[in-house]
Amino acid sequence: MREPLRLGVGAAAVALAGAAAYTLGAHAVAEGLGIGVVKRGPARPMVALTFDDGPDPAHTPRILDALASAGVHATFFMVGRKVDAAPAVARAVASGGHDLGNHTYRHRHLWTLSPAATIAEVDRGAAAVAGATGVTPRYFRPPWGTFNWAAYVRAAQIGEERVLWSVRPEGLLVAAPAARMVTHVVRRAHPGAIVSLHDSRGHPSTPEETCAALPGMVAGLRARGFEIVPLRVLLGGAP
Ligand SMILES: [Zn+2]
Repeated sequence: MREPLRLGVGAAAVALAGAAAYTLGAHAVAEGLGIGVVKRGPARPMVALTFDDGPDPAHTPRILDALASAGVHATFFMVGRKVDAAPAVARAVASGGHDLGNHTYRHRHLWTLSPAATIAEVDRGAAAVAGATGVTPRYFRPPWGTFNWAAYVRAAQIGEERVLWSVRPEGLLVAAPAARMVTHVVRRAHPGAIVSLHDSRGHPSTPEETCAALPGMVAGLRARGFEIVPLRVLLGGAP
């Protein structure tokens, strides 16, 4: 009777090790070591602003207006389900000249999803963005910046560059007010910086504070000599 028990424990250990590799392993490679993932661009005097979790019918148009007033192109990592709910807002982002990224379809934490469910999330997210805007997203960012192996591999397979960030001003536990976000970004910006912002979700006040922070952020970055560019320029050198 002891043999089956030992086999059971062994199988459980193998399953646990597999699960750890699938989640923590991918996370360590992507976020810890930064292998195969972009967290900053080349060391040129450029900064990219990136917005996650939209499109949001209330906040995204205001953020688009603020960006247009400042003459800035940014990058939007969209949630497919929200694209389906507000396709006109997604189209407005694309027609504003901003870069589009895939932020999965339902914004589930990828550690809770099987490989098959993960691939479906990545593929459906990309399809929703492409379907609404006619633009195939070129970049992938997992929810909360957390990869599993299936997402890590699938994003590359469908031609999406994996992108995280190097500056995050919004506050983790408590929402940062606009003035503090401006100071944070302007102080911590560095050549090739990728700034993580949200045009939806986060803390309830975050998109509004982010919108209010944009003029000061842009002015402060420019005063430090940074050009503010979409990811295609930061990473690709495109004009
Ligand atoms: Zn997100």
